[in-house]
Amino acid sequence: LLVLLMLSACGTAENSSSPTEDQKLTDSDQLYVGFVLDTLKDERWYKDKQLFEEAVESKGARIKTLAANGNDDVQLKQAELLIEEGVDVLVVVPHDAAYSAAIVDMAHEADVKVISYDRLITNAPVDYYISFDNVKVGELQATEILKIKPSGTYAYIGGAESDNNAVLFRQGAMNVLKPHIDKGTIQLAYDQYTDGWDPNKAEENMKAALKQRGNKFDAVIAANDGTAGGVIKALSEQGMAGKVPVSGQDAELEGVRRVVAGTQSMTVYKPISLLASQAADIAVTVAADKPVDAEQSVNNGEADIPAILLEPVAITKDTIRDTIVKDGYLTQEEIYGE
Ligand code: BGC
Repeated sequence: LLVLLMLSACGTAENSSSPTEDQKLTDSDQLYVGFVLDTLKDERWYKDKQLFEEAVESKGARIKTLAANGNDDVQLKQAELLIEEGVDVLVVVPHDAAYSAAIVDMAHEADVKVISYDRLITNAPVDYYISFDNVKVGELQATEILKIKPSGTYAYIGGAESDNNAVLFRQGAMNVLKPHIDKGTIQLAYDQYTDGWDPNKAEENMKAALKQRGNKFDAVIAANDGTAGGVIKALSEQGMAGKVPVSGQDAELEGVRRVVAGTQSMTVYKPISLLASQAADIAVTVAADKPVDAEQSVNNGEADIPAILLEPVAITKDTIRDTIVKDGYLTQEEIYGE
């Protein structure tokens, strides 16, 4: 089963541009970057894959991407495969923050450095971490929802607890909500992570929450656009979509369309092109055995990991054009159909 999964994952995600004769001749000098992705399920990871590959290739290095369809063992095998193929650096979007520590051990044994991309690998001596300020993402979500509903009954629908980001998003949201919960103006009546970030599970959880409380919810903080989609389906079955504010994240096309339609109140835009190009800078520098300047650091339970954390941006109906459309992240036509 594992082999089958691996092959299917390789088949869908491998970057298989065939090298020209010139490239073949210089292969041995060319730096080689391995990229292992948890999944390609959420729309954003396609952008990460495409933009990161382009950025690495534009620096003259070669890259292979493998995606693990949310399976830890497959991800470990894929990392092993790339190490055996002789990558000079491994860039990892871990499925499970803790489990993927094994990838770091394996890579280090082969003298290959590891960069944690978007999600932090915990309890392992990862070499570099590049991401967005994920606590801030949660703060932006709660801040926007509070502007709309300064008091009442809230639900928190989180991401996958095995993803360190999901923990940080929740932490950020709670930083903002806590004083209001302590004052008694906000009641957090439901608070649940979502296995595997699965929108169907988020929908089931929201349905259960609505049932438990006889539909008495005034606002929902959902951790990303995928989970927000599930939440909004559950709300719409009860005729509550558009009446209860819901947050999101990623500026996925469907999420942004819901913001325009008013069923979702906000999303968080994280400029992936910036993440991809800076990660490519680091990857190629590390692959060439040169040091990287990182001004920040993040403790991952094992050590202070040199880190670069980019700024996330809150998006509402009024700011879509000046941000994601202006940057070309999504086009006006895709969003508004005009
Ligand atoms: C990412 C989010 C994404 C989520 C689910 C998180 O680690 O930071 O952008 O929505 O994973 O794929």
